[in-house]
Amino acid sequence: SLPLLVADEVSKSFGVTPALRGASLQVYPGEVLALTGPSGSGKSTLLHCLSGILAPDEGRITYDGRDLGAMGDRERSALRRGAFGFVFQFGQLVPELTCLENVALPLRLAGVRRRAAERAAGELLARLEVTDVAGKRPGQASGGQGQRVAVARALITTPRVIFADEPTGALDSRNGDQVIRLLVAAARERGSAVVLVTHEERIAACADRIVAFHDGAPATTAATR
Ligand code: ADP
Ligand code: ADP
Repeated sequence: SLPLLVADEVSKSFGVTPALRGASLQVYPGEVLALTGPSGSGKSTLLHCLSGILAPDEGRITYDGRDLGAMGDRERSALRRGAFGFVFQFGQLVPELTCLENVALPLRLAGVRRRAAERAAGELLARLEVTDVAGKRPGQASGGQGQRVAVARALITTPRVIFADEPTGALDSRNGDQVIRLLVAAARERGSAVVLVTHEERIAACADRIVAFHDGAPATTAATR
């Protein structure tokens, strides 16, 4: 099949610091791809370029054959809200809302009525085994529960690509394993691709393919199965 997302010879510097040096990568529909490698090797920067948050200095990102750099800001943000989902190291949930309302929020912003949005959010929280915290604020949930709520929020719109930057970085290994397993299973059910940045080998092993970064570009690629 055709790649959904392509980075073609992407370079990016911050001042005099080169973060990416001619990085190329392809993401296929439905695959789970782990980006690994030492700190500072450019993993997060490529994730930000792929997701349209950061513009490359050189090279090109295409989504579904469309050049992100040739889109207007409005078209690019519509893509980020619609086709992409995001999970970060610290969930970044809205502290004033309940966990259920947090998960329903992307649907509410897309114009779905409260009742339907909250029903879908409740089903996803059950699927991720965190029904217990539905009515609680994120501050009352444990780290592992909060991160599952963040995963549910990223999945609720059925994005075609989920970007996860060290999603288990703030969790102990037991919770980290569980969150990653649930993320991968839920994304597979929905047919979403997952692009996962992690420095943990154990977490990367949950992916279909591992791309190891070195000095601002992918150095090696390995299939895990
Ligand atoms: P990784 O995710 O592999 O740890 P990053 O992509 O975060 O690597 O960083 C690559 C390089 O770019 C590092 O030298 C880092 O310090 C630098 N860098 C990343 N983001 C910024 C930024 N916003 N401002 C300045 N330098 C940055
Ligand atoms: P120009 O050189 O005409 O200003 P740019 O290529 O810099 O055009 O793009 C205009 C806007 O789009 C800028 O705000 C830039 O940050 C953003 N942009 C360009 N390419 C990308 C990209 N691949 N991903 C995200 N934003 C991008």
